Amino acid sequence: MTKARKALLELLKESKEPVSASMLGGEPSLPFDQATIYRNLHYLEEQGFAESFILHCTEHGTERYYSYRSRSEGVHHHWFHCEKCHTFIDLGGCAYQEQMKEWEKQYGFTISDHTFFLTGICASCKS
Ligand SMILES: [Zn+2]
Ligand SMILES: [Zn+2]
Ligand SMILES: [Zn+2]
Repeated sequence: MTKARKALLELLKESKEPVSASMLGGEPSLPFDQATIYRNLHYLEEQGFAESFILHCTEHGTERYYSYRSRSEGVHHHWFHCEKCHTFIDLGGCAYQEQMKEWEKQYGFTISDHTFFLTGICASCKS
């Protein structure tokens, strides 16, 4: 693995929230240009170490967010994004495997991937 890949993987592992490439551009631990960061995030996702989704919000516009994915466990997480304070809340590992199987049976297709996230107002912004 190249230096950039290792550094990015470490950062994704430690991050409690999904991160976008533009957020990572300002990280002191990542002294790489934007193109290198994009390319390596894409690589990590292709190799099954990361996953991404595209989210639009008023604060950050349309961005692709990356989060760590354990290759051995194969478990990915789902997220809630607050439209007011723009933090992500980790909803834990995917709980939709049973539903997927049902849909595969019902429609006869084979699911290779899915993206799912929630947006709304978090508890502390509500009060
Ligand atoms: Zn909030
Ligand atoms: Zn936001
Ligand atoms: Zn899922």
